[in-house]
Amino acid sequence: QKVQLAAAREERILVLVRLRPLSDQEIVANEVADWECINDSTILYRNTLREGSTFPSAYTFDRVFRGDCSTKQVYEEGAKEIALSVVNGINSSIFAYGQTSSGKTYTMNGITEYTVADIFDYINRHEERAFVLKFSAIEIYNEAIRDLLTSDNTQLRLRDDPERGTIVEKVTEEPLKDWNHLKELLAICEAQRRIGETSLNERSSRSHQIIRLTIESSAREFLGKENSTSLAASVNLIDLAGSERASQALSTGTRLKEGCHINRSLLTLSTVVRKLSKGRQGHINYRDSKLTRLLQPCLGGNARTAIICTLSPARSHVEQTRNTLLFACCAK
Ligand code: ADP
Ligand code: MG
Repeated sequence: QKVQLAAAREERILVLVRLRPLSDQEIVANEVADWECINDSTILYRNTLREGSTFPSAYTFDRVFRGDCSTKQVYEEGAKEIALSVVNGINSSIFAYGQTSSGKTYTMNGITEYTVADIFDYINRHEERAFVLKFSAIEIYNEAIRDLLTSDNTQLRLRDDPERGTIVEKVTEEPLKDWNHLKELLAICEAQRRIGETSLNERSSRSHQIIRLTIESSAREFLGKENSTSLAASVNLIDLAGSERASQALSTGTRLKEGCHINRSLLTLSTVVRKLSKGRQGHINYRDSKLTRLLQPCLGGNARTAIICTLSPARSHVEQTRNTLLFACCAK
């Protein structure tokens, strides 16, 4: 029975919550922090003005990280085990979910770097196998997929591959050479995200960014031979569009169109996540959005998933913070 419990725990989605500190601007603007992590798993809403209000004030998760926790700590104590399951041939996905300015990019940038560093380390310690680590990066904006490693603006398509599942056609996959190479590629992605935009924040609040690291490995003595058994798996690091997009009622024109599409990916993700959290059986509507279709092989089955919900402690953000916590509760 113990074994079964352990298996059940492994199958669940790991839900982590990260509270950021108030920013300097918020402090200057006399913003008040109403949220506090009272231990490693509970976050509390403390607004004395709202005492006696009807919504719950304590929320419990696998792990909550206080404002003074470093990204290294979030990685080591939360995401690492799931990110590194890729070296054992297990697909995984790590999401950052939260409103714009809550710390998604801050968190995922760090986690991406720590993950790559640990994968390089693993590769160096296992000389009996030959490894190729590949890096690709795409953005999903308005249900259109764009390669973040090329300046070519054409839309990429999804295709169902009998062996590899859903793949992005013609996406650039760069074999990662070393740490400097990673930094170069991340800089290219960042530059691509800025193109044609008045502000990066505007764009990043509306688009999903997915960095995919794929490891292929084979035993050295079989290298290049026909019967070489190779192992391949991917870890996806996903910086989601601002979650306010999922709840905001948008007006007209392109904004409405964007809103609908972004809603579609985020809303489909929440239904998928909710179903997965109840066990990975039965029909799951992966095909309803580009994001979930693409991530299907890295969400269901024996894939591992972590969701890092990022929160602002500010009183003025309480509505969005509560929405994020409700999403987090549904996922666990
Ligand atoms: P998002 O991607 O969710 O819109 P960002 O990651 O851009 O949010 O974070 C907004 C701002 O807050 C950035 O200036 C970032 O450096 C800062 N920030 C976010 N999280 C933290 C944190 N845990 N500690 C310190 N600063 C943070
Ligand atoms: Mg961001």
